[in-house]
Amino acid sequence: MSSFLPESIQKVIDEFSRLPGIGPKSAQRIAMHLLHSPDMRISQLSKSIAETKEGLNFCVDCFNISESEKCKICLDQSRNKNLFCVVEEILDVIALEKTGQFKGNYHVLHGVLSPVDGIGPNQLKINELKVRIENLINQSVSSEDIEVIIATNPSLEGETTALYLTKILKPLGIKITRIGRGLPAGGDLDYADDVTLTRALQGRLEYS
Ligand SMILES: [Zn+2]
Repeated sequence: MSSFLPESIQKVIDEFSRLPGIGPKSAQRIAMHLLHSPDMRISQLSKSIAETKEGLNFCVDCFNISESEKCKICLDQSRNKNLFCVVEEILDVIALEKTGQFKGNYHVLHGVLSPVDGIGPNQLKINELKVRIENLINQSVSSEDIEVIIATNPSLEGETTALYLTKILKPLGIKITRIGRGLPAGGDLDYADDVTLTRALQGRLEYS
């Protein structure tokens, strides 16, 4: 690294470089931007960063981020309680919510199956999803009225996870669909634009 830089600036560059999607060049640009920013803005930024995780936890139902036991989406009574959209990450919830087209509930897996990285079903919120649906059925919701849309990424791991989920959920007799084509193969859901996401959601196909 450039040794002529004061240590404090270099530290900022190093920290930002570690963040996803920010390379060393961007980190340098951010550091220089901060240098020209009023002290007030900088203290607001560092306060926000410091408080990122304060008072936050995962929703006990869907594992979305939440300030209370259950997230705002799960608490929203106007949403269809029998329709689930299963996603890999919270970022996918944000992307899908932005389209304003999905009126069901979510289930965040917090990853995908990836044997190479040692991530098996127990590392993900898969069993929790099964229990959630079983609870609904126990509350005398007809299994035919329940739909699970699997919206994992169209990557190898995403497809593997989708197949595993169908195997686990099929015996429950519910409708299982896969988010439609049109998403770039290997791409991330949260990078797709609103129109593509909406089309993918509407063009979902049922697993036979
Ligand atoms: Zn929730």
